[in-house]
Amino acid sequence: AKQAGKHRFVFFSERMNHQVRERLLLKNNLRQGLSRDEFLLHYQPKFDSRSGRFTGLEALARWQHPGRGLVWPSHFIPLAEETGLIVPLGESVLEIACAQNRAWQARGFPPFRVAVNLSAQQFRDRDLVATVRGVLQRTGLASNWLELEITETVIMQDTERAVAILEQLRAMGIRITLDDFGTGYSSLSYLKRLPVDCLKIDYTFIKGIFSDPQDAAIVRAIIAMAHSLRLKVVAEGVETEAQRVFLREQGCDEVQGYLAAMPLPVQEVEQYLA
Ligand code: C2E
Ligand code: CA
Ligand code: CA
Ligand code: CA
Repeated sequence: AKQAGKHRFVFFSERMNHQVRERLLLKNNLRQGLSRDEFLLHYQPKFDSRSGRFTGLEALARWQHPGRGLVWPSHFIPLAEETGLIVPLGESVLEIACAQNRAWQARGFPPFRVAVNLSAQQFRDRDLVATVRGVLQRTGLASNWLELEITETVIMQDTERAVAILEQLRAMGIRITLDDFGTGYSSLSYLKRLPVDCLKIDYTFIKGIFSDPQDAAIVRAIIAMAHSLRLKVVAEGVETEAQRVFLREQGCDEVQGYLAAMPLPVQEVEQYLA
């Protein structure tokens, strides 16, 4: 038994070593990847839950790594946050998404919003509002076709500052969505003061709608609360027809998830829009 335990330990530590090395490698590649434009966006559609009408796209970052193929955000967003590279990466994502949306409009597609995720560090950056304004000017996208998704944690770190920044962004006409809603610790009193337009219910609650009565209760409560505060509600991670029907019956405004559409590369978005 001792012997086996020892082997297990050796195996485990080698695996850990491997993971640590992998992370380090990717981390070192990040800056280069950024300067070589290896980051691209996939776009996941959102739909009106009553009419089923397409309402807009969320931009999700992907890394076309020269040696590894397409790398998913869970592998590089945390590293980008650790290294601070999330600020230039985030700006690049914003620029690509706005330029792409402007190009779609110029080609005659009916206009829709594009949503971009912002990380906490971008939010702490002094220049965020100026950066966003600059990107809109450079790309020529009208601000009402941009939506920014931020998480509760971003706001709770420095609520006063967050409120001030959100007010400026909203005054420009940008739509603000509170992402992963329900996973942070948001009190009703601060939600009342927050300049946001929309709550996006986290997918962990949607997953449990039919298996965990508490999840169903939370989803109902979030929708009711959002509406009483005159906010829109979106559900993410909607994977089944039953979930969609439940959400529609509860009055959830928009849905997003694999049921209707996965995040798609540009070419497939265009096929879809056409
Ligand atoms: P998120 O903003 O909560 O995005 C939703 C994630 O759920 C996406 O994963 C999406 O592909 C996935 N998803 C969509 N529908 C379903 C579904 O029906 N079922 C399941 N199981 N998953 C679904 P993705 O693309 O891997 O992105 C993961 C996270 O990485 C995002 O979570 C976001 O927090 C972060 N991220 C992605 N792109 C960016 C970016 O440009 N900037 C920043 N700051 N974060 C980003
Ligand atoms: Ca999001
Ligand atoms: Ca989310
Ligand atoms: Ca999430």
